[in-house]
Formats: sequence, C-alpha cells, structure tokens
Amino acid sequence: MSECVFCRNIVTGKDAHIFYRDEYVIGFMDRFPVEKGHALIIPAKHYVNIFDIDLDHYLRVHQIAKYVSQALMEVFEADGINVGQNNGECARQVVMHYHLHVIPRHCGRDVTWERIMVSDSELKKQAELIRDKIQTYMDKL
Ligand SMILES: [Zn+2]
Repeated sequence: MSECVFCRNIVTGKDAHIFYRDEYVIGFMDRFPVEKGHALIIPAKHYVNIFDIDLDHYLRVHQIAKYVSQALMEVFEADGINVGQNNGECARQVVMHYHLHVIPRHCGRDVTWERIMVSDSELKKQAELIRDKIQTYMDKL
C-alpha cells in the first residue's frame, strides 16, 4: 500500500472525482476546494515536486492545465483563474506528489486560500461538467 494519498486514492481511481485521465496525467476535483471548481492535475506516476518530475510528465500536466482553465472559465462562469503549485514543506507543499492547482476566481470576491465545504455529489457533478467541456477544447487541436 502506497504511503502517498494521491497514489493510493487518485491514481487507483478509488476515491476521486476524475474529469480527465491519460497515460501521463490525471485531473480531478480537490476534495478541500478554496473555490467552487477548484481542480488538481497530477502526473499519473509518483513524482514529489518540480525538482524530480520528468519533463514529459511536467509538460503534459501543464498542457492539460490550459484546457482545464478554459473549461473552468465556462463551466463556473469565472472571471479569472489561478494556476499554481508548491514545492517543499517550507513552500507549503502538503501532499508530496506533484500537483497543480487550477482555481476559478470571480471579480468582487476575495482571493483567499481558505477551504470551503462541497458535498461529494456536487464534486461529482462538477467533474462531469468539466469532463464534457474539456473535450471540446481538445477536439479543436
Ligand atoms: Zn504519489
């Protein structure tokens, strides 16, 4: 059993609201979002952070972040998007598996990092909406 919560619950698909998956990356809803629609993108293989992730996985994670950002703008009627990730405990990295946050933001609302409560059924619904939308962007390639 892996020590890593993402390898254990997300890569296995056991406990995740996944909206995108390919050989390199998995996109899913953050279970503890700071805003409605807060998504995470991770490499399907375990890397700790920006220092050890291999370039193929790194580039694919960030490529998918572009499509996810566009999808979140539409699905959540956002006005902007935060894309970011933390590397190392002192940089507030909590889960030691590389992950990129993609967070929809709205004009007139504070940009905070406080977690909000979202039900399991709501997260499931959000993942479905993003899954449908992201495909339209990828089909345009
Ligand atoms: Zn892991």
